[in-house]
Amino acid sequence: MLANFSQTEAYFKKIAELSDRVEYRSIGQTEFGREQPLLVITAPKNFPQIERFKEISRKLGRAEISMEEAQSLASEGKPIVWIDGGLHANEVVGAQQLIETLYELASKNDSETLRILDEVIILLVHVNPDGMEIMSDWYMRPEEKTKRNKNIPVLYQKYVGHDNNRDFFMNNMKESANISMQQYVEWMPQIIYNHHQSGPAGTVVAGPPYRDPFNHVFDPLIVTSLDAVGAAMINRLHQEEKPGFARLDGSVFSTWWNGGLRTTPYYHNMIGILTEIVGDPSPFSIPLVPDRLIPNNGNPFPVTPGPWPFRRSIDYSVSMNYAILNHAVRHGDELLYNFYLMGKKSIERGNTDTWTRYPKYAQDIQNFFEASKGKPAGDDPEEAYFGNRAGIPLAYYDSVYADPAKRDPRGYILSADQADFPTAIKFLNALIKSGILVHRATSDFTLGGKNYPKGSYIVKTAQAFRPHVIDMFEPQDHPNDFQYPGGPPVRPYDAAGWTLAFQMGIVADRIMEGFDGPFEAVAYGQLLFPEASALPATSSGYFLDPRVNDSFTAVNDLLKGKIKVYRTQTASGTIPAGTFYVPAAGKKIVEQAARNYGLKPTAAKGMPSGAKEIKPARIGLYDYYGGSMPSGWTRWIMEQFHFDFAQVFPMEIDGGNLAEKYDVLLFMGPGMPGAGGGYGAGAQPKKEDIPAMYHHMLGRLSIDKSIPELRKFLEGGGQILTAGGATSLASHLGLPVSNALVEIVNGQEKSLTGDKYYIPGSVLEMEVDSSAPINFGMGQKADIMFSNSPVFRLAPEAASLGVKPLAWFGMTPPLRSGWAWGQNYLKRGVTAFEAQVGKGKLYAFGPEITFRGQAHGTFKMLFNGLYN
Ligand SMILES: [Zn+2]
Repeated sequence: MLANFSQTEAYFKKIAELSDRVEYRSIGQTEFGREQPLLVITAPKNFPQIERFKEISRKLGRAEISMEEAQSLASEGKPIVWIDGGLHANEVVGAQQLIETLYELASKNDSETLRILDEVIILLVHVNPDGMEIMSDWYMRPEEKTKRNKNIPVLYQKYVGHDNNRDFFMNNMKESANISMQQYVEWMPQIIYNHHQSGPAGTVVAGPPYRDPFNHVFDPLIVTSLDAVGAAMINRLHQEEKPGFARLDGSVFSTWWNGGLRTTPYYHNMIGILTEIVGDPSPFSIPLVPDRLIPNNGNPFPVTPGPWPFRRSIDYSVSMNYAILNHAVRHGDELLYNFYLMGKKSIERGNTDTWTRYPKYAQDIQNFFEASKGKPAGDDPEEAYFGNRAGIPLAYYDSVYADPAKRDPRGYILSADQADFPTAIKFLNALIKSGILVHRATSDFTLGGKNYPKGSYIVKTAQAFRPHVIDMFEPQDHPNDFQYPGGPPVRPYDAAGWTLAFQMGIVADRIMEGFDGPFEAVAYGQLLFPEASALPATSSGYFLDPRVNDSFTAVNDLLKGKIKVYRTQTASGTIPAGTFYVPAAGKKIVEQAARNYGLKPTAAKGMPSGAKEIKPARIGLYDYYGGSMPSGWTRWIMEQFHFDFAQVFPMEIDGGNLAEKYDVLLFMGPGMPGAGGGYGAGAQPKKEDIPAMYHHMLGRLSIDKSIPELRKFLEGGGQILTAGGATSLASHLGLPVSNALVEIVNGQEKSLTGDKYYIPGSVLEMEVDSSAPINFGMGQKADIMFSNSPVFRLAPEAASLGVKPLAWFGMTPPLRSGWAWGQNYLKRGVTAFEAQVGKGKLYAFGPEITFRGQAHGTFKMLFNGLYN
């Protein structure tokens, strides 16, 4: 049995009504319009002062107060602990344990519970109501219990499913924004416990502390506080004879990446806890995995394999919740004071010359020394341990750590005169939802010889959440992480690099010295709106800038309003190629766009020569049973930019006559048969086992049925855009394109092995043919999100066959942020191309041009392909 969200919500409300320990609050709506609940749980006597406790936590978190005041607030305040559940709805323990935890905290009268209620403010949060409703209703559908399953037909978050835990610095989804605002603006909990599933095979649960690498930009107290909370959790389980807790290298979770519900807290001086537990309402057993039977540091108390009732997982979860709450009772003032201390040190680092200890800097010191002296003597690890390692003369330390160019910036300026300022505003709003302090220039000013207009924005690093600021603007420097020297790479838990300013194509000037100006602070949590600009007086039409993403939103509004829109085909003077020309009849809609999207339309002198009319295309976005996350992100992006579209499933493609319904088909990532013939989409239920409303979503693309229909569609004049794995369509069509990431071994072409070439999620720079219509509005270079993405080589005859490169890597190493091993293999590799197929066109983009709704810098490569 599984309770669904409606039942859970009713139970939450009932308890809040009956118990004076519990208050029910809504933190906003979900993407499907449900209320997202947050329960405040504490002793009844604490409620009258609840706003005071919240204020204390915020004051300590922002650290804009003296040590003395902080000490006094730390003893007056109460620690705030966030416990959530349900984020990944197929990980059903998470949401169900919330119900039991609430029941125990609301009803138990033992001394431990009473002390927790007296000393701690508990926030119990349901982090994915929609998902729980979808999953539980689906599970409970068959009367016959043995037929119950979790193979839901759609994603368990409206757009992004599992990626709902990849959205916590971008805050695209409503749920993520609700959660971030509570964590980083409203309550500022000192501990954030995020429940997941499942544990590594042969264990019950994986938890803190986590394995290396940890990120270099956050405070060391974060890592050691994870040790402390982790110790409290595992100790309690062991006291209660609950074995099977895996930690450190006993599991795969690290503290490297920003963007998860439990990891973004690290960049805000908060202790983020993740557990991954086993458990299922259907019969489940812990498998026998021999090496998990050996006690070691990663798995000190091995569990005996065998049947595992769901109830046992709920009990473990409640124990771990209690362990954390107990830790908060015993260390409350210390948790509060450390929270302040980390913020205070961050502000100090932002106000002085500070060098982050990046791996690249250690390598620089080594390189400087070797360049001048040769190898260091006594490099034996054993000698090093005993202190006999000769090391490198201390003077070399300063070769990096006194180099002013290697300091962290004191702040960043986002000039209001950059081409796509409305996108810069979106970037700033992502930061503001994460509690970052932003300043706005109240008048024009000059800094370092550069003039900035009024309305420019400033983000200083002298703030408590400095690690998050640095992380959003600066490159991540992931260490070279291999299983052993010369061995295969250790896969990062998620991306290795993600610098949001790069992904969004933001122009931000790094300011290296302390600075000030006519700046006013934007209130914490207050979102920015682009400034409305007045329309130029003209009777001969307007230009909309193709470099601005929201010009496309305006164009879609115009097309829906039956206003004709044209695009220039070549650059002319200051007017870039692809500029939109809107006749004067569009005035009203252009005016609205200028007001709502921050566009700055300019006056045209009538229709530019050579401009072509664009028409809305009938767009089909490929998806499959169970839901593709990249397709879901693209669906969300197209809605944001006002593109109309329909979803297309495999059977409809196999049915043919695609041109009758569509002008453009989109395949984003998974689902296309692989170059070797493998199939994309996941498990397929039998038709008779699922409701009729989902039948049209069944099926898989195949080489023998689907590819011929796609070919027909292209040959008849259709347009297909593919990204990531879906670019394998090119090889099925027999285009003169091959994989560039190969080498010849014993006369045979082989894919490069991980010890030679490995690039997990990282930001790379590519060169772009900005004269190609699909690239209109792009610069000569673009930062792209690359995750072991396809790279192509075009055959010598490609050009004569209508295949043309659109973007490629240059001769210099392209890594901008993250980790790229073997970059030399990328030289001149083609990252995107177009191919004429009959009367139609195929576009292939290797990198993730719509990555998680973050890669605004490359959205135009999609948008340009969505018109006729
Ligand atoms: Zn999960």
